[in-house]
Amino acid sequence: METIILKIGYAIVLIGTFIIRYPHEKRNRSNKVRTDKKASLEKTLLGLVFLGMMIIPLVYMFSSLLSFADYFLPITLHILGLLLIVPTLWLFYRSHKDLGKNWSVSLEIREEHRIVDSGVYKYIRHPMYSAIWLWCVVQALLLNNYIAGLSGLICFGLLYFLRVKKEENMMLQEFGDDYKNYIQATKRIIPFIW
Ligand code: SAH
Repeated sequence: METIILKIGYAIVLIGTFIIRYPHEKRNRSNKVRTDKKASLEKTLLGLVFLGMMIIPLVYMFSSLLSFADYFLPITLHILGLLLIVPTLWLFYRSHKDLGKNWSVSLEIREEHRIVDSGVYKYIRHPMYSAIWLWCVVQALLLNNYIAGLSGLICFGLLYFLRVKKEENMMLQEFGDDYKNYIQATKRIIPFIW
């Protein structure tokens, strides 16, 4: 398939996720943080995710610097990548909307923090991370390049596996049995499965 179409597809994901997140980030700036659990490792990992999901793809999209690492994918996988843009943006939107004022880009508890267990949070504890996993899959299917296609999966994978347990422990410390019951009633990122 024409690479330009695939690059436009990935640009839609970048612009779409920015538009979805921006109002939440703006509103939450004035929403005070009560507990801040972000260590320097967290900041490094967030930087890596920014590099792997934005900077490297943009270099690939606007230059030929990385073209030595291109790989071939059948058209069906490209089409799947384009189709997956819709659930990716939908879940990214819904999880931000449901989490509302409790959202942070990092490990933090807000002043009036409460457990969200409705909307998409009724089925999984980390729908925003599910959306970002989907985003990484879209990246690998649309940018068929060993560096620009896989950097999202690697960088976000690192952040996810080093963070998710810490995040749940932070929530357990803060909300005790309420969060324990919520854990028992839900899966992490795939409804009913995982
Ligand atoms: N892991 C969640 C949220 C990501 S945002 C997801 O993938 O959808 C990260 C912040 O959300 C954390 O700092 C934590 O304070 C908050 N958080 C995570 N799960 C929550 C929940 N069920 N209710 C309220 N806040 C939550």
